Amino acid sequence: MHLSSILQRFNEPETLKMAKLGRELRAQGIDVIDLSLGEPDFDTPQHIKDAAIKAIEDNWSHYTPVAGYLDLREAVCFKFKRDNNLDYKPENIVVSTGAKQSLANAILALTDDGDEVIIPTPYWVTYSELVKIARGKVVELHTTTESGFKITPQQLEDTITDKTRVFLFSSPCNPSGAVYSKEELEGLAEVFRKHPDVTILSDEIYEYINFVGKHESIAQFEDLKDRVVVINGLSKGFAMTGWRIGYIAANAQIAKACEKIQGQMTSGTNSIAQKAAVVALTTDLRPSMEMVEEFTRRRQRVLELVKEIPGIKCFEPEGAFYIFPDVSSYYGKSYGTTTINNSADFSMFLLNTAHVSSVMGDAFGEPDCVRFSFANSMQNIERAWARIKEALSKLK
Ligand code: PMP
Repeated sequence: MHLSSILQRFNEPETLKMAKLGRELRAQGIDVIDLSLGEPDFDTPQHIKDAAIKAIEDNWSHYTPVAGYLDLREAVCFKFKRDNNLDYKPENIVVSTGAKQSLANAILALTDDGDEVIIPTPYWVTYSELVKIARGKVVELHTTTESGFKITPQQLEDTITDKTRVFLFSSPCNPSGAVYSKEELEGLAEVFRKHPDVTILSDEIYEYINFVGKHESIAQFEDLKDRVVVINGLSKGFAMTGWRIGYIAANAQIAKACEKIQGQMTSGTNSIAQKAAVVALTTDLRPSMEMVEEFTRRRQRVLELVKEIPGIKCFEPEGAFYIFPDVSSYYGKSYGTTTINNSADFSMFLLNTAHVSSVMGDAFGEPDCVRFSFANSMQNIERAWARIKEALSKLK
């Protein structure tokens, strides 16, 4: 069997691998608590579901325009004005099958063989793999718990070379929960002004899940806006992961390029989900804000529970629904025949001993950390962290 060399270039998502291992244990009758996956545990709000049902009844069943229905692209523009005070036109918007496809389109549209793509660590697992698929070169820019998992303007300046084409980051960040303030973004913007060939991919999919206040987009700096591609979607803020709606806002040339790629890969995304997305983006945000209130309570509780466990150093997330603690003080410790040498061992130990799934930090470019989601019920969070505490106390 001959399989193509492209498969050698990238890995399968660690997040999905852990979820699969958890499911396998569950199939054996084991009560596994899933803290590995990145999706809200809430149902999609009723008014959005109603819009989808109506779309089926109204026979929105044909192929859709590649970049998305016009009314949806207008709704996305409305959302950018309402939430971010950003002016876009429908020609700037491309709707895709999830923000993952939006990212893939943009990376393929902007990266040539050997082009450097700077990605601050920790980063969402898929970023580096998409760059590898596009034959770009991933340049990791390391941050630490001490720096609040954020880069400084100086670090950025020192990392940009004449081969740098793209800078790719998320704020709020998956997995660290770091959120850049307006002042911090202005510091980075100052550096980008000196490097006009660099395009900025700003993944803002966790926009609403923000515990520190107002979301800030790097696209707000008028002189940079034309080379910022904002990535966003409905998965996280509206509990619509399975509906698969993501979008970009970009200058018309980049938007056209993304549309061209998507036109051959998948065409326009699902018609019913698009019609529901129009309603999600243009009506009451109250249901989304209620979810955020619940995430706020859970974040608080998880931080209390983690503090009770010795040897875990935890940055307090400012957004998204994960904690990403440094667990390296457990490396070198053993229980029976199991020794923990790295974050993969740590994650597997918790899965097998505490029956709690998490995701190893190596997958996000930070080998000292492990990601735990708090997108699970308060009850499961309490149970999971009690089990984790007990399992870790066995390591000597
Ligand atoms: N960006 C980030 C940072 C994410 O965490 C995710 C989902 N885990 C995505 C993009 C993709 O979201 P979707 O494809 O569901 O829209």
